[in-house]
Amino acid sequence: MSIDMTMERMRAINDRYLMFHAMAESVDTDAGFTFSAKDNLTSKDMETCAGSKILIGYKPVFDATSIARMREEGGFLMGKTNMDEFGFGTFSTNSGLEVPRNPHDVERACGGSSGGSACAAAVFEDHVSLGVSTGGSICCPASFCGVYGMAPTYGRVSRYGLIDYGNSLDKIGILSAKAGDLRRYINVMAGKDPKDPTSCVQPELKNEERSMKSVAVPKEGIEGLSKDVESAFNNALEDLKRMGIDVEYVDMPSLRFAMPAYYVLATSEASTNLARYVGMRYGQQEGDLSLKFDDYFSSFRSEYFGDEAKRRILLGTYTRMAGFRDRYYAKALQVRKVVIDDYKRILADHDAVLAPTMPFTAPRFDDISKMSALDSYKADYLTIPANIAGTPHMSVPCGYGSDGMPIGMQFVADHWDENVLFTMAEDWEKEFDLRRPEVTI
Ligand code: GLN
Repeated sequence: MSIDMTMERMRAINDRYLMFHAMAESVDTDAGFTFSAKDNLTSKDMETCAGSKILIGYKPVFDATSIARMREEGGFLMGKTNMDEFGFGTFSTNSGLEVPRNPHDVERACGGSSGGSACAAAVFEDHVSLGVSTGGSICCPASFCGVYGMAPTYGRVSRYGLIDYGNSLDKIGILSAKAGDLRRYINVMAGKDPKDPTSCVQPELKNEERSMKSVAVPKEGIEGLSKDVESAFNNALEDLKRMGIDVEYVDMPSLRFAMPAYYVLATSEASTNLARYVGMRYGQQEGDLSLKFDDYFSSFRSEYFGDEAKRRILLGTYTRMAGFRDRYYAKALQVRKVVIDDYKRILADHDAVLAPTMPFTAPRFDDISKMSALDSYKADYLTIPANIAGTPHMSVPCGYGSDGMPIGMQFVADHWDENVLFTMAEDWEKEFDLRRPEVTI
């Protein structure tokens, strides 16, 4: 296969949609396929900023394992995709760099935090993009941009070379307009890597067909939906029934507590991870060396971290402080256990838990600017539970709103049961009429 793409075209497309922060210098037309990767995955000699100004100028000397494995498979890394700073967001508007535009309507967001990855997957032909999910950052943008997206089981893909957000939550996965790419490329990236011990204790991913027979729809997962999402989801349930899948409504009370617990756990972990960015080792380092060291550190952190990163450092430092940690951090860990138990209970009788991915379609940038931080945290209530449980989950396109914007639904399977999701995506693709965005460049 040869790659049918020129640098001029790549640049022109990027000028319109801003999916890439950094791009390859030339196109490798002999490569087997093209891919892109979220900009929190290190890529040798290609700037890696994780959406943050503090990392401008950082050129890693090594590839993340996920990127290395994609290259070994014959992939050509076209670019590094724009994202919310360190993954902190739901719309990619918290980027310190460029904000990607939704290919179905450039006045709207791509979702986040892997927004640039969803955008690239929707726009380029035969393209696959690596995303990272901590609390929903693969499924949310996949849903907003009308592509397939999957986060595998926590530990399935090595995190070596990932710029961590929350180490107990981060998962690397795939976004693509083609269902079959989920199976293909998660198999490429998965497996043991001595550089990430979490990846070394997993059962092997055997490539098998495993068809879905029954899904459980939690009643708590269909509350608070927009009219468009509700009707697309109900139509999709009818399609699933026609495909011979049993649909049953269940109670999953822990869903209501997952979102607040997540924001405690994720910010606690993030606040320690961000401690390393002080203007000494990575990225920005031109500072006033006559300052005392803590003043030197603060000067960088004040200038280059965005508001959301600062908010999360404050919140996460507070929730794990002596005197407060039992009330917040330890409590959130208990909630996490209850969520896992709830999934195990339901998945003992069903192949997957199913709900819409996001409660609304991709919002307009001017509406996002009116949202508070809490409004945007709340938008994640459907994607977060599977992320704190570490269960594999996948968003598939399931309809379009009256605004023409894509709508997705999210399947959550049991730990290590990716095959049931792969097969579901492939079966669904045969039934669903996917609309690709019109790209007239
Ligand atoms: N929106 C969530 C957050 O801001 C999830 C982001 C993610 O998965 N990186 O934390």
